Amino acid sequence: MSARPGAAGATRTCPHCKTVILESATVCPSCRHYLRFDDKAQAVEVTRALQVEGEIRHPAEGGAWEYSVVLTIRDDEGNEVSHQVVGVGAIHPGDARTFTLAVELTPTNDMRRMPKRPNSRSRH
Ligand SMILES: [Zn+2]
Repeated sequence: MSARPGAAGATRTCPHCKTVILESATVCPSCRHYLRFDDKAQAVEVTRALQVEGEIRHPAEGGAWEYSVVLTIRDDEGNEVSHQVVGVGAIHPGDARTFTLAVELTPTNDMRRMPKRPNSRSRH
């Protein structure tokens, strides 16, 4: 479900870490490497529209905890746009992990509206 090149939501692969990122990105949000950008790509203001952070601390009693970090993105009708496990691991007794979710918004000039796809539940 990739948008056409030049359209809002168009993607490319980061040459450094191979993560799928926005075509408009000038810095990879995954590996934070600067990316080559052409003339039309201006340095755009990226807004951090949402950030949620929380720590889970093991109380140092009993065995280690295993965790799966599951990220689900839904549209305004509740349809899943994306559902994926972004990380797994273990928290050992006495240890802690901090989980941070950040949603960065990039304004574009794309005024077209993508047609609704009623039954799209694409998974990657
Ligand atoms: Zn990268």
